[in-house]
Amino acid sequence: MKDIFCRIIEGEIPSNKVYEDDDVIAILDISQLTKGHTLVIPKEHYDNMLSCPKELLHKVIDVAQRIGQACVSVLGAKGVNILTNVNEIAGQSVPHFHVHVIPRYVAGEGGFQLTMKPQDISDLNLPMLAEEIKKEIK
Ligand code: AMP
Repeated sequence: MKDIFCRIIEGEIPSNKVYEDDDVIAILDISQLTKGHTLVIPKEHYDNMLSCPKELLHKVIDVAQRIGQACVSVLGAKGVNILTNVNEIAGQSVPHFHVHVIPRYVAGEGGFQLTMKPQDISDLNLPMLAEEIKKEIK
């Protein structure tokens, strides 16, 4: 079965389009975490960012940057969070690669809060961990 973004891209389901070119569309997220919350989506289906070819990924990021700039200049956002979730464990609910552009207006606003709380790393060997990841980067 086609995912909801494929159906939006094919025009089966309406959306509030912010941007479109041959490879990428951007639409307002139906649940606005903050005013102007936008999703940047490649038209070709890839499950998530990790499986998206680099050239297309760069196009998606380019559009996300430009939408972030527009949110600052037109909506008066004081900043933006630009993020993507990969797989359910990380909060991905639609299995079609997309990047969230979430304008930020005031600290601690209700709609969206991103807190990063470091875990206890006393049993981690950081130099070994860095080596482990480094040798797998392709
Ligand atoms: P994620 O949880 O990272 O996969 O994000 C999926 C996002 O898609 C959520 O923020 C939803 O609100 C949004 N979404 C789901 N259905 C639609 C739709 N029909 N139009 C616009 N946004 C949608």
